[in-house]
Amino acid sequence: MKVRSCDLLLAGASEVVSSPPHVGPLRNEALDRLVVTPFASLAIESDRIVGIGPHEDIARQFTSSVTVDVSGKVVSAGLIDPHTHLVHGGARDAEYEAIVTGASLAVSHLGGGINSTVAMTRSASDAELTFRALADLDTMLALGTTTIEAKSGYGLSRDQELRLLRVLANLDHPVSIERTYLGAHVVPAETDRRNFVDQIIATLPEARLLADWCDVFCDPVGFTVPETRAIGAAALMLGFRMRLHADQTGDIAGAALAAELGAGSADHLDYISDAGIAALAASDTVGVVLPTVALHMLEIFPGLLDGRTIEPSKPDLAERVHAMLDAGVALALSTDYNPGSSPCLSMQLVMQLAMRFFHLSYAQVWNMATANAAHSLGLGHDRGTIAPGMRADLVVWNVPTHGLVINRFGASHVAHVVKDGRVVYSATSA
Ligand SMILES: [Zn+2]
Repeated sequence: MKVRSCDLLLAGASEVVSSPPHVGPLRNEALDRLVVTPFASLAIESDRIVGIGPHEDIARQFTSSVTVDVSGKVVSAGLIDPHTHLVHGGARDAEYEAIVTGASLAVSHLGGGINSTVAMTRSASDAELTFRALADLDTMLALGTTTIEAKSGYGLSRDQELRLLRVLANLDHPVSIERTYLGAHVVPAETDRRNFVDQIIATLPEARLLADWCDVFCDPVGFTVPETRAIGAAALMLGFRMRLHADQTGDIAGAALAAELGAGSADHLDYISDAGIAALAASDTVGVVLPTVALHMLEIFPGLLDGRTIEPSKPDLAERVHAMLDAGVALALSTDYNPGSSPCLSMQLVMQLAMRFFHLSYAQVWNMATANAAHSLGLGHDRGTIAPGMRADLVVWNVPTHGLVINRFGASHVAHVVKDGRVVYSATSA
């Protein structure tokens, strides 16, 4: 056999773990399957995987001047975080202490909190927002995330929203960013709703030059279904694809609207109805669930909150997650990184919490954080799965089995991160 030279070899992994080959998002039994190749190697040329298989086979077929010994380590696809509010100003740590200790009647922790971040974001310079975003991207990359979605949404005016999208577009960082226009985050205080929705729609053509995705917070504290449908219809005409914050604080049939609009994702879904579940299951819209929000907002410990400030009557999200899985909804995971309800940059922690909170298998968690997260961004054909021809976005984990990445929680297990075929991060201990 002719030996082929390639740009990078990852040699002798104790396991290479990947979603199974598939077209479209994984659901049902396929979501609970992984392909695990023991003692395996990967060959990479330019930004593509060109060979994956048992170490002896790859060693016979490929040579490279750059070989990384990954013995005793797991290799997976890079993690994909499909819902972040990356660009924002300020912090809300003081507000959080008041919520947790019950010192503040923070009943509108969502709407009120977003407005405070809007004020801090508007007063931050482009340079400040850029510096913060790049530092956050560094952290995400070091934790194994190679592609994210990032939204505007803390500007809430034409000029400010376009400014946030420009800041996103100008970020120079190895992590790939899918940009989303979220002009419809909340209605600013003392603003006429009709005018505000009209303004969002009027901004769409300029936003389209800077973003491929359009998001609406379709929720009792956000935008109604008719408002969301009007924004969505106008956005689709301009070639946007939709993703929705859906049914986070109450069921207003946001999930069904996401399916109707052919959205890439419907996110949160805490209050999704059985009808919403049926609509998502019959579509390719990926449901994105966000366990760090439930943790951070104390929604998983309602008993502790009796007589305090946070509504203790949320549906059991684990029950909803399993109703979605049983119905055949394709699910993914995300951080929902934002300064209020989820100041968390770690998809590793999201994976670890999702298993525990939602009673998921290792296979379900891995597929939800890689292949299905990629599909929610329309990128499932390109990344999120390890196979010849796929983008070489990979994580080398400093543990010998893929279960340990999730089972051992609290510390990062990342040894190396490969992005577009290049090693772009190595832990000092690796
Ligand atoms: Zn969000």
